[in-house]
Amino acid sequence: VTCQDIADFLGSYHDGTLSEAQRAVFEEHLGVCPDCIAYLHSYEMTIKLSKTAGAKAYHPQCANAPEDLIRAIIDARKRST
Ligand SMILES: [Zn+2]
Repeated sequence: VTCQDIADFLGSYHDGTLSEAQRAVFEEHLGVCPDCIAYLHSYEMTIKLSKTAGAKAYHPQCANAPEDLIRAIIDARKRST
């Protein structure tokens, strides 16, 4: 399993829709790959911030944060491949 696979699985992992076998592989990789742990944390934080921004859309600076974060994650991913 590669870091790219982990990135592809991430949404399903977070939604809890991975099969037991897929999740075992995913978590085994997380156990040996700090980069993917950091990526998972960024992903979860982005989701949390997106929800927060939705609730506080009257703060323009808050509404801008998630998009910047997503760009940063995409850039980081490009650099690692
Ligand atoms: Zn990895």
